[in-house]
Amino acid sequence: MEIFRTGEATVQYPFAPMPVCKDFRGKPEHRAEGCIACAACTVACPANAIGMETDTAAGNRIWSIDYGRCVFCGRCEESCPTGAIRLSDDFELAVGSKADLTRKAVFTLADCACCGKPFAPAKEVDYVARLLSQSARSAEEADRLRLTVSTCPACKRAQDVHHIAGMGIGRQMTKEPETTP
Ligand code: SF4
Ligand code: SF4
Repeated sequence: MEIFRTGEATVQYPFAPMPVCKDFRGKPEHRAEGCIACAACTVACPANAIGMETDTAAGNRIWSIDYGRCVFCGRCEESCPTGAIRLSDDFELAVGSKADLTRKAVFTLADCACCGKPFAPAKEVDYVARLLSQSARSAEEADRLRLTVSTCPACKRAQDVHHIAGMGIGRQMTKEPETTP
């Protein structure tokens, strides 16, 4: 009678799907179409399972994940600004070859609006420009912000130096010649 009252204590898996609990931390699923290649997940990942390689010569950035290193902590999901990576219910990670544990996505780099050299993922530049333009008070300000975002760090630094030199601050910072008493 006790056995009948308890019911089935086993599951049909692997012949039927295995139910998992709510908030189960399974295989991180990456949606390349929603990803802007910002590298936030790369920085957040404590196991170095997520990597990012920028190749300016080829004009691209390669995002990759190694499921063999993942510890299913969920920090990539927490840090992603676009929800492009989420932990799924999938726990079946067995593969025939170690290479099959790796997934990659390739993103094109945007060219600097000033020097023309590739410097950051085009999707990331576009994402930041759209975010900033929402707070712009005019179309001109939105254009100026987009131009700033589309300029590489080296060109921004050069522009800052020109700006400071134009203000005459450079002159004040140069050492005054020592006078003899
Ligand atoms: S779940 Fe944790 S260990 Fe796995 S890829 Fe995301 S951040 Fe890295
Ligand atoms: S944090 Fe999200 S948007 Fe940024 S690289 Fe990772 S998956 Fe892509």
